[in-house]
Amino acid sequence: MATTTPEIVLPPLALKAAGDSESQREVNLAKVVRSPGFPTLVLLLADTVGKWADRVILDFTAHHVGVKQQVDGIWVDLPPMDRPTGDFMLATLKQLCNLDFRERETRQESTFTGQLDAFKYKFHVRCQPVPTGERVQIRVDLPRPQPAQLVEMGMREKAYERVKQMLKQGKGLLVSAALPGDGASMSWKGVRAAGDRFTADFVTFEQKGAVEDEVINVGSVVYDSLDVFDDRFRELLLKEPDTVFFSQVRSPEIMRRIVDKGLSSNRLMVVQIDARSAMEAVFRLQILGMTRDEIQKHLVGVVAHKTLRRLCIKCREAFEPDPSVLAKLGIQPGRVRQFYKQFDPAAYTTLDKKGNPIPPPTCPTCGGTGFFARVGLFEVLENDATLKSILQSQKKFSEATQMWRAAGNPTFREEGLAMLALGITSIEELQRVLKS
Ligand SMILES: [Zn+2]
Repeated sequence: MATTTPEIVLPPLALKAAGDSESQREVNLAKVVRSPGFPTLVLLLADTVGKWADRVILDFTAHHVGVKQQVDGIWVDLPPMDRPTGDFMLATLKQLCNLDFRERETRQESTFTGQLDAFKYKFHVRCQPVPTGERVQIRVDLPRPQPAQLVEMGMREKAYERVKQMLKQGKGLLVSAALPGDGASMSWKGVRAAGDRFTADFVTFEQKGAVEDEVINVGSVVYDSLDVFDDRFRELLLKEPDTVFFSQVRSPEIMRRIVDKGLSSNRLMVVQIDARSAMEAVFRLQILGMTRDEIQKHLVGVVAHKTLRRLCIKCREAFEPDPSVLAKLGIQPGRVRQFYKQFDPAAYTTLDKKGNPIPPPTCPTCGGTGFFARVGLFEVLENDATLKSILQSQKKFSEATQMWRAAGNPTFREEGLAMLALGITSIEELQRVLKS
């Protein structure tokens, strides 16, 4: 009896291989499409871009290959592959990247491009050996515009005006606060973009290795280690920039130099620090060695940021909130008629005659994730009478937050509830973000 292999219909992803010459690129691609790992690779890449995932990690361990995708900042595990399937796919991927597919002991990096329907993608591949085998990262440049300005990220005009005013003060300390991975690089980009617009001349000052590609621009100074920090910083200040941006300030040694050398130069120093809220950033400055007097004297303000995933407007589902849910969220009855939630495929899955599930069609906009793109929540804290009184009375963190809120400053919670009422996000997503 003849057996037939079920035919896999591959998505029409048109790939372009890497290579030093046109003929080499053609040879690489011809080898790729004939290779046994090709179908698995195409399915993975098409699934990735279909969900608007911008990162894939493949973890090669002794017996299997772990696969995860990052969609809008959230890591999602896919079913693991067996080693042979993963090995074949990796060999194909390396051939596509014009890398040595036999080499598994050294770090290799390259890029390739692809087109699916009307969208073009660039894939950045990095393979590195790890004790358990190999770790491969595929980063995708998605063809959707990345917001560059704080207002495009979701900051309200009124808050943006306050940030503009802070930047225009031209001296003191401005803090950009977020947690790593929670849109920290996005808000940092936004604060820098605002600085670019409202200060005449600005420079970023960062340690080698901590610099992200996108951060490198004309006005960037990179120092190798703390030993040369002072020299580089002195040289930089002699050029009299209006504003200096320091990304990822995590040590009291760096903070002390910024306070002593930077703030005494009567210029604006903008620092990025890890903190969950604007008030936490004020407390973090003390952990980084600033005294309360120094904070009162130099702090201009804090811009704190969190990111929420936006519900996909194509497939989100409206529902009438239960009064008890509204009460729990502190929303007055009658204020919000409907909320929206993430599409639930299980609710629309039917069964065929044999009892096999037939899932509903995948949403073409979000690829079935239920979310599409992100929006920022912001807290803007100014060094005003409220903050001064908080610092002078040495309030504890929770009391300080209460006082600040009572003075009429909207917190992440209030900002998030507004997004919820507008149908931009779901209750579950807001709860996830507020907890983090
Ligand atoms: Zn959708």
